[in-house]
Amino acid sequence: RKYRNTVIAANWKMNMLPSKIKAYAEELKPLAAPAKWCDIVICPPFVMIPAAQKAFRDSRISIGAQNLNENESGAYTGEVSSEQLSDLGAHYVIIGHSERRQLFGETDITVNKKVHAALQANLRPIVCVGETAQQREMNVTEELVTLQLKAALAGVPATKMRRIVVAYEPIWAIGTGNTATAADAEAVAASIRAVIRGLYGARTARAISILYGGSMNAKNAFELLSQPDVDGGLIGGASLVPADFAAIINAAN
Ligand code: PEP
Repeated sequence: RKYRNTVIAANWKMNMLPSKIKAYAEELKPLAAPAKWCDIVICPPFVMIPAAQKAFRDSRISIGAQNLNENESGAYTGEVSSEQLSDLGAHYVIIGHSERRQLFGETDITVNKKVHAALQANLRPIVCVGETAQQREMNVTEELVTLQLKAALAGVPATKMRRIVVAYEPIWAIGTGNTATAADAEAVAASIRAVIRGLYGARTARAISILYGGSMNAKNAFELLSQPDVDGGLIGGASLVPADFAAIINAAN
């Protein structure tokens, strides 16, 4: 991993409570302390970002959001802007998670707008791509992921590209316990890097962190994270238990 950072990111989804964050942080911090070579990110629901900032202030752990609105400001009741997140001190934002695409109507076009909004406010986008079970069966995984990635990155200049993290998350693996094999995760991660190489050149492609997500846990993390093109993980379920999340962090380190 000479050329790029290892990133381990927690996606809490709509879980946890503001009053429980301090205890979570106090348990995670000492367990994660040995992982000096790994960027650790916690993405809580919006309302818990301030409490998470406070609880992790004295650590190397950064905070991210799970979504943002693509507009700068204005009459968008119930939405949160990139500038608001970055003003709060968030560093990352997950964009285009499959749950956002499937349950909340996000498209490749809104994902692209959100990527631009995030970069505008100096947030680091964690751009999610991945195929359904049916698409995998039809053997169109790499094609589909390439389309999603190219759409998400449309108009992103080379100077900003290095701020982007890509997460390959096969939809059939998310929350199912059905983890992709290390070989399958590696094959798609390598194809993602090849797409970035085609768009931005070899030096940039080499510098981008590509994560795997989908039922990663303390048991399977080491093998997945040992793949040459898998530079980290996006973790849902297993990130809710500090000891489990720490085991993944330490497998990456
Ligand atoms: C996710 O939602 O990004 C995810 C990978 O979830 P899980 O780890 O629970 O499969």
